[in-house]
Amino acid sequence: MTVTRFAPSPTGYLHIGGLRTALYNYLWARRNGGKFLLRIEDTDLKRNSLEAAQAIKEAFEWTGLSYDGEIVYQSQRFDIYKEYVEKLLKEDKAYYCYMSKEELDALREEQTANKQRPRYNGKYRDFKGVAPAGIEPVVRIKAPLNGEITFDDGVKGSISFKAEDILDDFIIARSDGTPTYNFTVVVDDALMGVTDVIRGDDHLSNTPKQIVIYEALGFKIPKFFHVPMINNPQGKKLSKRDGAMDVMEYKNMGFLSEALLNFLVRLGWSYGDQEIFSLKEMIEFFDPNNINASASSYNQQKLEWLNACYIKNATSARLWQEASNFKLSIKDDKNAELLAGMLRERAKTIVQLVEMTKAILDEPQSYEQKAIEKFVTKESVLYLKEYLDILSKSKDLESANDFENITNEFLEKIGLKLKDIAQPIRIALVGSSVSPSIFEVMSVIGYDSVRVRIEKFLNREIV
Ligand code: GLU
Repeated sequence: MTVTRFAPSPTGYLHIGGLRTALYNYLWARRNGGKFLLRIEDTDLKRNSLEAAQAIKEAFEWTGLSYDGEIVYQSQRFDIYKEYVEKLLKEDKAYYCYMSKEELDALREEQTANKQRPRYNGKYRDFKGVAPAGIEPVVRIKAPLNGEITFDDGVKGSISFKAEDILDDFIIARSDGTPTYNFTVVVDDALMGVTDVIRGDDHLSNTPKQIVIYEALGFKIPKFFHVPMINNPQGKKLSKRDGAMDVMEYKNMGFLSEALLNFLVRLGWSYGDQEIFSLKEMIEFFDPNNINASASSYNQQKLEWLNACYIKNATSARLWQEASNFKLSIKDDKNAELLAGMLRERAKTIVQLVEMTKAILDEPQSYEQKAIEKFVTKESVLYLKEYLDILSKSKDLESANDFENITNEFLEKIGLKLKDIAQPIRIALVGSSVSPSIFEVMSVIGYDSVRVRIEKFLNREIV
């Protein structure tokens, strides 16, 4: 059975690179009918672990990802790690090292001066004597002294590290007994039954060390997939300046979670030239073996484009549900459909949808000066007066069609074209020269409001 995991270090929020890693692991587990586990790597930052778990839960809930079983907290597993450190000590695969900080510093200085890679010199590797007093030892693993560590990465292909270039007898437990990062990862991945590790390629250099630990502990080595980073459009490391880092900020900016997941799945993976993927399709098609070997580039326009696609295809109920997160409540069924129909092709984000909706529903508090200068003349004010007169005398008008018909009658009577008065009407109704069809706007705000708004506009001292 395929078992994957997402193993974030607690930061208090889930960043988008993390969400992509989580998504890939989730999809691969689901595709194979396997398990997707969640582990909080909180050995250093115990304080933040609950907050981090909460942030992940919130982001998962929003995006519809789910993990199996209980969350594993590394901070609760020190006894387990200790047990495995002791096992290696007992089997002589690890040893206590009593080198003092001063000794280590001196060694490093000497190596640096000789232009050698700073590394531990193996002083206590086969030490049989009496341990020096007053030193709390660290535990070091007996790493291979030469040869190669090779593994087949599902993304990058065959990877080889020369033992002498990257390894020394690295520390697996500090002098206070706490295990080091690579050790906990291996113990947990093995005990949790993880078969496929999909993670950022910033962890690639940890992998040979982890393999040494797997081998020492006699655990089965999982399949690794190291995913290239998401860069900014300039090819540099993605930073806060390039886009939001906290996944939930995307929600606040009015992105739909499907659009964000779709955006992320394509950042580093493709399936033919398909751009739009439902979660179901992602599960059906995603294969980490097809992840691109080169870094991907964050592209805000692409995300906005995808979001616009998803908004365009969303039901009215969905759109107003999303809008309710921004304190906009559209309950009137007729208007809900009408507004969604008018705006879903125009709004790139839910925030824009909310703004556009408010611009229609709320009476204008001001009129865009530039639009007035451009479109409102003495004549058009006169025409508007006549138009208001006709509207007032007519029976209650309801549909966009009703408004269109009466407007056409009026235009015919005075020999004008719609373009001659459309903008002044629009400015009167919504305060600017930008809106969907004025007849639809009229139908949404209703007969009474149409007249009130035009009247208010005319009562201003504007030529
Ligand atoms: N805790 C690590 C991180 O947040 C991930 C470890 C792993 O995936 O092996 O980058």
